Amino acid sequence: MSDNTQARKIAFIGSECYPFVKTGGLGDVMYALPRALTPLGCEVRVFLPNYACIPPKYKDQMLYRGNFMMDLCSDGRQFYVGIMELVMDGVIYDFIDNREFFDWGNPYTGLWEDIPKYCYFSKAVLAVMNYMEWIPDVIHCHDWQASLVPLYLRTRFDGTPVGSAKSIVTIHNLRFQGICGIEHLKYWTGLPDYLFDYPVLKQNENEANMFKGGLAYADKITTVSETYAEEIQTSFYGEGLNGHLYYHRPKLKGIVNGIDVQLWNSATDKLLAADYDYDSVLEKKIENKRALQEQLGLEQDDGQFVIGLISRLTDQKGLDLVNAVFPEMLDEHTQVVILGTGDPRYEGAFRYYEGENKGRVCAYISYNESLAHLIYAGADALLVPSLFEPCGLTQLIAMRYGTVPIVRETGGLKDTVQPYNEETNEGNGFTFDWYQADLLLDAIRRAKALYFEDRSRWNDMVQRDMAKDVSWENSARKYLALYEELTPEEAAE
Ligand code: ADP
Repeated sequence: MSDNTQARKIAFIGSECYPFVKTGGLGDVMYALPRALTPLGCEVRVFLPNYACIPPKYKDQMLYRGNFMMDLCSDGRQFYVGIMELVMDGVIYDFIDNREFFDWGNPYTGLWEDIPKYCYFSKAVLAVMNYMEWIPDVIHCHDWQASLVPLYLRTRFDGTPVGSAKSIVTIHNLRFQGICGIEHLKYWTGLPDYLFDYPVLKQNENEANMFKGGLAYADKITTVSETYAEEIQTSFYGEGLNGHLYYHRPKLKGIVNGIDVQLWNSATDKLLAADYDYDSVLEKKIENKRALQEQLGLEQDDGQFVIGLISRLTDQKGLDLVNAVFPEMLDEHTQVVILGTGDPRYEGAFRYYEGENKGRVCAYISYNESLAHLIYAGADALLVPSLFEPCGLTQLIAMRYGTVPIVRETGGLKDTVQPYNEETNEGNGFTFDWYQADLLLDAIRRAKALYFEDRSRWNDMVQRDMAKDVSWENSARKYLALYEELTPEEAAE
């Protein structure tokens, strides 16, 4: 930030945030981006639901900041809004407290309950800002769960102090949109009827779409990579909103995610068997492979090519391709480690392969943050063959840990993994373009060929990956530029 610009007050609104509650990349971004914006001169507050599943060690640190009653539904039904606050590393987290909505789930339970839950949350955060007299310049909303905020801002909160704020909606994943019956949403939001028309909330004759409405009313829309920003304007990736996004493209921008390089740092990571950095990776990384093999009951063999996969087990992640090539991907020199939960179809398939290949395959069907760290450090390659991938963080973490990504060229994977070029010995990983199992297998085989036949070039890539800048720094500056563009009057002060 240049000296003559004023600090921007930014409110982050989202449904998850590491380390309190995280189910995927959204949780990482809600944690890391505010921390990257703070040194740039932004005052960021993060607003989250006070879910029951937040670990007690954080609940114990929260301070009560007040409460009030808020009307929500079209019949004026009143709900309690409590404010619990926690400050961590200079960032303020305000948790919206209401046991009726947030006392079960981890954090999601299903749309029937989630829709009222996030209607309440979206309205409550704005009411809390007025209550606390903390008025942001920009309200940065993340995914469908926060996407009613721009609508409330321009209707129910118009003319109130917070009504002066600008809004941004960031799309982390367009697949989830918050769609339900029109009457259901009308009731829970209490929003005026005119918003339930096609340009805003109306999805079809019977249904309303929360994300669609938020995107229409936001001052800016961002998504988490430049390629995904283009892709979502097409029918293949647009999840039914491609026309809507194409219409709103003048305010749409792609800004690629980074990762928190303090949190993800192989030189200081307490969850690893051996720490390493750029200089020691070629000597020390192997100790993590050994620890991983031991912990997961894989054959202890330094010579194995270990492929990792850390993912929600859903169709999005290209797991039908993995499933299709699994037997061919394995050989006596290859081990595979899968960490994930999700679709029982994939859980079952990977468990089956583990049963058939004891000592060579581990399907760890669970969510396990510590094991994830060890896999990032202990594997040689990480698979991310996604059908679509707004940004993807696992390939960024893998590179930071000197683990070579094997990815499909889509969304943020395309923007962050430069394909290996054997002519020039450049690139960060192995890639394939069409969504086809044989192309995935080909990419895996190319990776193995380099690993087994030209280890020095493989090692070059490992070090290149570790040296690559995957931090938030550049992207945080782009967000700041966007905040400044939305609030030029402050910049002039
Ligand atoms: P998405 O947000 O679509 O799930 P991302 O690649 O953006 O995918 O982010 C995934 C994040 O969740 C990464 O930090 C990854 O390490 C973590 N993660 C995914 N599955 C697991 C799991 N089973 N155990 C631990 N961490 C996981």
